Amino acid sequence: MKCKRCGELAAVKLPSHHAGFCPGCFELFFRKQVETAVRRHAMIAPGEKVLVAVSGGKDSLALMRVLSDLGHDVTGLHVHLGIPDSSDPVCARTEAYCRENGFALHVLRTGDVGLAIPKVKAAVHRPICAVCGKIKRHYFNRFAYENGFAALATGHNLDDEVARLFANVLRWDATYLGSQGPTLPSEGRFVRKIKPLYRLTEFETAAYCFLKGIDHWKAACPYSGGASFTGHKKLFADLEHASPGQKIAFYEAFLAKGREHFAETNREGRQQLTPCASCGYPSSGELCGVCRIRALVAK
Ligand code: SF4
Ligand code: ZN
Repeated sequence: MKCKRCGELAAVKLPSHHAGFCPGCFELFFRKQVETAVRRHAMIAPGEKVLVAVSGGKDSLALMRVLSDLGHDVTGLHVHLGIPDSSDPVCARTEAYCRENGFALHVLRTGDVGLAIPKVKAAVHRPICAVCGKIKRHYFNRFAYENGFAALATGHNLDDEVARLFANVLRWDATYLGSQGPTLPSEGRFVRKIKPLYRLTEFETAAYCFLKGIDHWKAACPYSGGASFTGHKKLFADLEHASPGQKIAFYEAFLAKGREHFAETNREGRQQLTPCASCGYPSSGELCGVCRIRALVAK
């Protein structure tokens, strides 16, 4: 197969785009998809500072790389979760990557704020990933807000977004359907959330990392019970195989024609939030979810 753009031998075949690309042209394609996402969904205004949530996996490192190559002012934040045999090597690899590539990186240790994940796991009687996710979201947002970042960028890709959308559709969860999208505007102490990789699949992000020599962390977290929405992702992989282009078409059509119908329900369904008595961040009760978990761990 020949590269659609320059006619050289293709290295990456993309049936959904009816194209194959050589390494150089694939990188251009990848950057173009991110540029389109950023422009269409008003993700980053010129000169704005962006905080990138960096887990050390392929999506977040690819995101740092591509946003920086597109000229955006990016800084990474890695949340060290204190998980034995996992958090130290992931953090070391992430720090090494950022150092070698000249990216500013901050590391926040949840153990320093009374929330080392093994202790949280022992204290709560809920699936740990939901709790861990809540803690990470809180600190990513808090760090961005307190350090003057205009936006918080996460590495969610098209497969993540389609699987989430499908799960919301299966439940006809109008509140979530009304707010799902690549950009969530800022509100009070919540900074703008953006997903610049939403037009790129997991395969495309992995190919980008491979071709760019991005040495990302590959092992799964020891507490993970498998990636989220695995079944839904498999379903859509089969659909995509049978009919290339379905994933992006499904998601873009939702954004263009579906989401607006749920926006009102989303506004009505949202809980009234007040400042948490302990940390001051928006909360549905006296204490926010994270401060309640911290109190539970401290007991
Ligand atoms: Fe946290 Fe679960 Fe992810 Fe591990 S797999 S980092 S526990 S959310
Ligand atoms: Zn709080």
